[in-house]
Amino acid sequence: MYEFTYTTQAPRVVFGAGSMKLIQQEVEKLGARRALILCTPEQKAQAELVASLLGPSSAGVFDGAQMHVPVENARRARKHAKECGADCAVAIGGGSTIGLGKAIALESSLPIIAIPTTYAGSEMTPIYGITEGGLKKTGRDARVIPKTVLYDPELSMGLPVALSIVSGLNAIAHAAEGLYAKDGNPVITLMAEEGIRSLAKGLRAVKMNAKDKVARSECLYGAWLSGMVLGNVGMALHHKLCHTLGGTFSLPHAETHAIVLPHALAYNSSVVGDAMERIARALNVESAPAGLYDLNEELGVPQGLREIGLSEGDLDYACEVALSNPYWNPRPIEAGPLRALLQRAWEGHRPTA
Ligand code: NAD
Repeated sequence: MYEFTYTTQAPRVVFGAGSMKLIQQEVEKLGARRALILCTPEQKAQAELVASLLGPSSAGVFDGAQMHVPVENARRARKHAKECGADCAVAIGGGSTIGLGKAIALESSLPIIAIPTTYAGSEMTPIYGITEGGLKKTGRDARVIPKTVLYDPELSMGLPVALSIVSGLNAIAHAAEGLYAKDGNPVITLMAEEGIRSLAKGLRAVKMNAKDKVARSECLYGAWLSGMVLGNVGMALHHKLCHTLGGTFSLPHAETHAIVLPHALAYNSSVVGDAMERIARALNVESAPAGLYDLNEELGVPQGLREIGLSEGDLDYACEVALSNPYWNPRPIEAGPLRALLQRAWEGHRPTA
C-alpha cells in the first residue's frame, strides 16, 4: 500500500549535445546581465569558452575552485563576484566547482547556473560542503540549488575514462540507496532504477570508447536522475560508511563508494527485497550485490579497500567510528555484522547475498 510525501525543488534542466551554447539565453532568462564563470585551474579553457559565448554578459573567469571547497576559496570567490559586479554565476565542472557555486549562493542571493562535466550529481541537490580548519562541514539549504542546469554530454568527452567510471559508480550508489530510503517515494524509485540502468549501460560503453557521444549522453542522463535521488531522499549505511572511511582515513571518495556499495547492499539485502530486485533488473543480473561487484570488475575499478590505502589494522577503528554515530538504516547496524562487512570490503571478495 502506498504512503508517501513528495515535495521537490529541482532546477530547470536543459539537456542535449551542444546545450552549453544556450548559456547566453539562460543567463537572460534569469534576468541577469553579468555572469562570473567558476572553474578549477584544469578546466580554464572550457570556462573561457563559456566566457566567449557570453560576450559582454561575461564578468570574467574565477578559476580557484578546489576539491572540498576550502572556506578561504569561497570567501575569495564571493568577494570577487561582488567586485566585478556579477549578478549570477556559472559553475562549469564537477562536484568541486559546483560546490564553490553553492558556497557563494549560501551567503548571497547570486543565482547559479551549473554546467556539470562529471557524473557526481551535486547540481541537483540542496547539499553543500565547506572545509574549514581541515574539517568539512555539510548541510542542506534550498538556497544552494542551482536555478538552471545545462547538461551537455560533449563536455564530458574529455573526462578521463577512469574518472568517468568512478564518478558514475558514485552516482549509482546514490540511486541504489535511494531505493530503500526512509523518506522514499514512487517517483524517486522510478528515477533511481532508470538512473542505475543508464549509468551501467553508459559506463560500459565509455570504457570501450571514451568519445562515444551516445554513451556519454546515457551516463549524463543517469547522473541527472541519480542526482535527483540524492537531492530528494536520505541515504543510509553505505553513504555513512563511505563518509567515515573518507573522512577518517582520507580514502579517495569515488573509489571508496565503488568498493563499499556491493557489500553495503549485501548487508541490507535480506530486508529490502524490492530494492534489490529493482537494482538487479536495472543491471540485468540475478543478484544486486554480486551484479555490482561484477560491474566494478568489468569496469576495472579496485575491488578491495586494501588496494586504495586502508590497512587491515584500521578496520576495528573504522567500525567503532561508524557505530559511534547512529543513523537510520533499513537493517539495524550491529557491531559484529558491520565489522564482517568491513573485512569483506577490505579483502575485496564477491558478496554472496
Ligand atoms: P571534481 O569536481 O573534484 O573534479 C575532479 C577533477 O576533474 C578536477 O580537476 C576537474 O577540473 C576535472 N574535471 C571535471 N570534469 C572534467 C572534464 N569533463 N574533463 C576533464 N577534466 C575534468 O570531481 P567530482 O567527482 O565531480 O566531484 C567530487 C566532489 O563533489 C566531492 O568533494 C564530493 O563530496 C562532491 N559532491 C557533492 C555532492 C552534493 O550533493 N553536494 C554530490 C556529489 C559529489
